[in-house]
Amino acid sequence: MNPFNNKRYNSYNEYFKRTFGQRVQKVSIDAGFTCPNRDGSLGSGGCTYCNNEAFNPSYCQPQKSVATQIAEGIEFHKVRYRRALKYLAYFQTYSNTYAPIDTLKELYGQALSYPEIAGLVIGTRPDCIDDEKLEYFSQLAEKHYIIIEYGLESSNNETLKRINRGHTWEQTVSAINKTAKAGINTGAHLIFGLPGESRETMLEQVELISQLPLTTIKFHQLQIVKDTLMARQFIENADLFHLFELEEYVSFIVKFVERLNPAFVIERFTGEVPPRFLVSKPWGQLRSDQVTIMIEQELERQDTWQGKYFKR
Ligand code: SF4
Repeated sequence: MNPFNNKRYNSYNEYFKRTFGQRVQKVSIDAGFTCPNRDGSLGSGGCTYCNNEAFNPSYCQPQKSVATQIAEGIEFHKVRYRRALKYLAYFQTYSNTYAPIDTLKELYGQALSYPEIAGLVIGTRPDCIDDEKLEYFSQLAEKHYIIIEYGLESSNNETLKRINRGHTWEQTVSAINKTAKAGINTGAHLIFGLPGESRETMLEQVELISQLPLTTIKFHQLQIVKDTLMARQFIENADLFHLFELEEYVSFIVKFVERLNPAFVIERFTGEVPPRFLVSKPWGQLRSDQVTIMIEQELERQDTWQGKYFKR
């Protein structure tokens, strides 16, 4: 029997209601971090699909202080989401733990000194965390909501090499385990449709991923973004890629979700890059929330739910 209240999956909105008792909105911050896969420490080309501009809201510019970005972000969201009274500062761009500990303390301290900010969402790579940083975030987590979101992208080391991630699946597992052990919420981000992966190999990942101590998870269909190495590879040889057709994606996600650990809160099923950044638009102008509705309808139609076939 479906164990979830309003949906057939562990939904992010319900999780937020349970955690905060009210609507909470994220305010994106670009604190001017970089990434070891771009600044030359690991590599300089970055992951083959990466163009951070495509994910960054317009109010979010690193030349402005964190406090200014928070003030402007809250103003921006107040118009759209009148019921949101609390906000999470979302450090999304590049690798937001890739700096000396004193810099992290200064930036995150600024964000948390803002009275409307209830906590931090920190996006980073699995190789950009260490014991000293975890100790700091663990102390913050005693008083605030803190989640560290790791870009996993795939559990397959061959794929990680192919997309030039510069880290392994084993590093991902270690970072997530240590973070959870330190009492910090953990998030993960996965991309479906990466070159070299088939529907079957993507589905096989669910068992490994389900064993991680994750709080939340986000799924993205692969989108080919302009001005990336992947865009050049796509233009040269589109046959290397299998971009999901919409119906195929909906059916794939249903299969993945029914095998997924039901304790994981699903934050999103799809990514949404602004169309002007995309090389290819296989789903036309369809918005993420419309795809979510299609997935919900398909779960209903098949009378299935998250974790129905989860094997512990
Ligand atoms: S996707 Fe993230 S880890 Fe990869 S190059 Fe871009 S910022 Fe760095």
